[in-house]
Amino acid sequence: MSPKHSTCSRCGSTRLVPGTVGGDGRVLFKPAKIKKFITLKGRADVAATACLDCGTVDMTIDPRAVVDLTGEPDAGGSTAT
Ligand SMILES: [Zn+2]
Repeated sequence: MSPKHSTCSRCGSTRLVPGTVGGDGRVLFKPAKIKKFITLKGRADVAATACLDCGTVDMTIDPRAVVDLTGEPDAGGSTAT
C-alpha cells in the first residue's frame, strides 16, 4: 500500500518511490499506551516512500488505526471513556 499524498515532506518533489523500512521489510508502529486491548492487530503497519531528489524517507501509518488503538477521540469529537 502507498500513502495517498505523494509529495516529499522536505522538498515537495513528486519523484517518490514507495517501499518499506526495516530489516525484515516490515515496520510496525505500536502506541505507547493502548487502551483498546481487544483488537485484531494491536499495531499499525508503516508504509514508507523515498524521495529520489533529496533522499528523505517519509513514513506513514493509517491514522484511523492509531485512533482505534489508543482510544483517542477522533475529529468527530466523540469522547471514549
Ligand atoms: Zn525530497
